[in-house]
Amino acid sequence: MTTTIRTAVRGQVVLQGICRRFTPGEHVVTALDDVSVEFAAGTFTAIMGPSGSGKSTLMHCAAGLDRPDEGTIRVGDVETTSLDERTATIFRRRQVGFVFQAFNLVPSLTAEQNVALPMRLDGRKPEAEEITAALDLVGLGDRAAHLPSELSGGQQQRVAIARALICRPSVLFADEPTGALDITSSRTVLRQLRDLVDRNGQTVVTVTHDPVVAAAADRVLFLADGRVVDEFGAGATAQRIGARMTEWEA
Ligand code: ADP
Ligand code: MG
Repeated sequence: MTTTIRTAVRGQVVLQGICRRFTPGEHVVTALDDVSVEFAAGTFTAIMGPSGSGKSTLMHCAAGLDRPDEGTIRVGDVETTSLDERTATIFRRRQVGFVFQAFNLVPSLTAEQNVALPMRLDGRKPEAEEITAALDLVGLGDRAAHLPSELSGGQQQRVAIARALICRPSVLFADEPTGALDITSSRTVLRQLRDLVDRNGQTVVTVTHDPVVAAAADRVLFLADGRVVDEFGAGATAQRIGARMTEWEA
């Protein structure tokens, strides 16, 4: 594979005028309605909003797992929306990490084998040290040989984070990464994400319903009906974020 992709402003993600519509039946559903947003390199952004507000669609489009109907997306200096299918896939594998609520680890593979998977899919043989470094990064260096079933939910999600980081992506997207975890595990995963930003300058964008997770972010975006309707900067307390959430729960 000879395709090389360079990113000058690693970690910066810019979405401009993003529209995404679905037509599951007779009627068109507008999941994203002219969304323009920028995620600065080395920052931690939380995305909140009621169910169906377009959070997952936004993440999928930004990560290149889905294509918008209108608008452009830039990751670093690469406009991903104008890449052909094949180049987009290679770009996504190498430059974008994605963590899902359901961990999505392969049950028959050990932690280290799961972490190695994205590199193998990219046709590369991962160095043992790289795998160890990725597991160390999430505090699981001593769990390399464990199967997912031998790990707690929080540990499994941290393996999923290590797997998402193995190719050193410009940006890490997480869609409700703590949604299936108890409070304690959830806080550990949160600390992990925050550390990645603070220590490694990783750009992290996460969807969450947890005001405590959002309060740890540098910026909180609120979506409603496919639009960004509000935004808090760093320092917003969990209480204030929780109060903003009740406006749509009411
Ligand atoms: P959220 O993650 O905030 O709950 P989503 O982005 O999943 O919201 O969905 C936004 C809207 O788009 C919803 O109305 C949802 O039903 C619709 N939608 C999302 N994905 C699809 C799809 N693949 N097919 C049809 N409708 C979809
Ligand atoms: Mg969702």
